[in-house]
Amino acid sequence: MMRQYELVERVAAYTKEPDEALLNKAYVYAMQKHGEQKRASGDPYFSHPLEVAAILTDLKLDEDTIAVGLLHDTIEDTDATRREIDEMFGEKIGRLVEGLTKLKRLDLVSKQAKQAENLRRLLLAISDDIRVLLVKLADRLHNMRTLGVMRPEKSKRIATETMEIYAPLAGRMGMQDLRDELEELSFRYINPEAYETVMNYLRELGEKNRSLTAEISKNLEQRLAERDIQATVKSRQKKPYSVFRKMETKQLGLEQLSDIFGFRVIVNTIEDCYLTLGIVHTDWAMVPGRFKDFISVPKQNDYQSIHTTIVGPSKQRVELQIRTWQMHEVAEYGIAAHSAYKEGDDDFSQSKAYASLRKTIEQLAESDNPEEFLEHTKLELFLDQVFCFTPKGQIISLPTGATPIDFAYAVHTDIGDSCIGCKLNGKIMPVITELQNGDEVEIIRSDSQSPPAAWQSVVVTGKARSAIRRASRQAARKQYLTLGVRILEREFSKVGLPYDHAGIEAALPRLARDSMDDMFAQVGRGEIKPVDVIMAVHPEFEQGQAEAKSKPAAKSDGPMGLFSLQNLIRKSSERSSAVSGKQKAQIPIRGVNDDLPIQFSPECGAVPGDQIIGILDPGKGITVYPAEATALAKFRGDKEHWIDLSWDIEEAKSDRFPARIRILAKNEPGTLADVAKSIASHNSNIQNLNMQVPVDDFAEIEIDLEVSDLVHLTRILQQLSAQKAIAKAERLLG
Ligand code: MN
Repeated sequence: MMRQYELVERVAAYTKEPDEALLNKAYVYAMQKHGEQKRASGDPYFSHPLEVAAILTDLKLDEDTIAVGLLHDTIEDTDATRREIDEMFGEKIGRLVEGLTKLKRLDLVSKQAKQAENLRRLLLAISDDIRVLLVKLADRLHNMRTLGVMRPEKSKRIATETMEIYAPLAGRMGMQDLRDELEELSFRYINPEAYETVMNYLRELGEKNRSLTAEISKNLEQRLAERDIQATVKSRQKKPYSVFRKMETKQLGLEQLSDIFGFRVIVNTIEDCYLTLGIVHTDWAMVPGRFKDFISVPKQNDYQSIHTTIVGPSKQRVELQIRTWQMHEVAEYGIAAHSAYKEGDDDFSQSKAYASLRKTIEQLAESDNPEEFLEHTKLELFLDQVFCFTPKGQIISLPTGATPIDFAYAVHTDIGDSCIGCKLNGKIMPVITELQNGDEVEIIRSDSQSPPAAWQSVVVTGKARSAIRRASRQAARKQYLTLGVRILEREFSKVGLPYDHAGIEAALPRLARDSMDDMFAQVGRGEIKPVDVIMAVHPEFEQGQAEAKSKPAAKSDGPMGLFSLQNLIRKSSERSSAVSGKQKAQIPIRGVNDDLPIQFSPECGAVPGDQIIGILDPGKGITVYPAEATALAKFRGDKEHWIDLSWDIEEAKSDRFPARIRILAKNEPGTLADVAKSIASHNSNIQNLNMQVPVDDFAEIEIDLEVSDLVHLTRILQQLSAQKAIAKAERLLG
């Protein structure tokens, strides 16, 4: 195993004054934490993070990244915590280690999940800090190097994942060496027979062509030296996997690929690159259509080189890459070679290489132009899909173009049916927004709602469409049915007859209807006249008599929508007390024991979206407070009674939660009614209302509401604040 001082020496080889203290501290900490743990091979576990750190020094990365390499498995596999790492190594390193912990958990998920889903998760993780990904690649490389000890099917699965995801990603980041090694190692486990065949063939070919290769190389160096160009010419070893890939994609046999020789010419300056190009093109015939100048137009991953193919001294095709040493470094180390990174620039995320990688990845995530990245992966298969997450991290795969409504129905029909809004990545967005890969989708629900029929033309999944059709048909039928009952009750009373449910049921045959519900719905739709129902129940009743009596009465109902404030408050509190009484035992909160009584703070309530704290009172059970509640101050002395709680939102469904707000409003007629109407229009309940004595022209109103969550509450406050008569609307926190 590499010693502590050896690691420091490796870093010192490319860093002027390495942070030895940090490296030593991370070394010791990781070694102690992993303690006696063993790898599958029987080696001490600590050898793995140590090798990962060594790979990172090969990439010449900074001390922070190397420390993260040493620590990368501690949170997941030992008793180390994020807090402890923050305290010992600083918040920045803590955050990176946690990023790797998250990625590791995804590895576990990916055993059953599709590879592409895993990739997208990976891409999401990238957005945090590119160093997480560099360490992840080093981690994967070491695991691939030591894959032999695994069962064949397991090593094949890991190799496939590496081939499809990590190798292309390394390529995308410009880390050619890493990519090559990952591909070679994967190839070996995915297709051992092909690997052997190609390897043997290349070995034979190498032997056979050794003298020819040396001759070409010498010839090139000589010609350049004659023109005073200092150049290093390296024969490029063919990689078994790239040969195999060419065979597959170009449908060529091994022999057809064997006549191509690859050389790399490395010189000191850009000027020398072009001079070299001029010389080889003058001295040998160039193969048309093979010239590419990535010096004047670098690839997006910063790769620079001139590529050309010439017909060599023995009529062999010779592929040449001409570049400077600096370009060579970038080509090998990719994004890790970026100078801003090594200059100790803390804000690597501001650098050009990072910006370009981010851009590429964003483009990829949007599936706009993924061909380049996907060239050697199987991900094309998934291009017609988007992958989104529930707030709990469950992956939902949908066809492209899908909306949050499709998402809701994909999770569960009930969730779709009660969907009234959504949050995408934490922001409230229209439910018709087209979902993008990696979106986290939180559905805002209300059980009193049913999906508008118009959504049928918005959704793309059949499941959503048919569910919406069914739900809106049912909702409409229910409305007509209720309306039908109301109409009949009213019409019976207008003609002075008692509403007679049993009598109506007995009269169904006379109305030629099979069921009461059908009949009610048809009355509601106006397909059956109420008078016909009355006459079916009371055959002695005269039609003229019925119509004469019912017509004027119909007018007396008055316009809809005029309701008194008192009524509204009373109605809503009746409704909600019924709800809260029934559901008291099922407050959707995690972290509490089922048999403890639980209630919301009487001072200010608490709603989902709040961070919450429970206060344990042995006599009373647990009282739930928003973490910011000032009322919590009085419990400061007895911290042992504080309990960390969190909402269990997926169980919350249509539950309502208490919250207190304060409104400062102009003291003029109608204001209070407007407030109440506004709250009612948001489908919220008013539990209690308290109006202070008006000061000047303003009145202060405190209202206890019941809302579904913080978003709901915020919306209500926003709409209230927007009203002309209201100077201020705010939440009260204890
Ligand atoms: Mn690891």
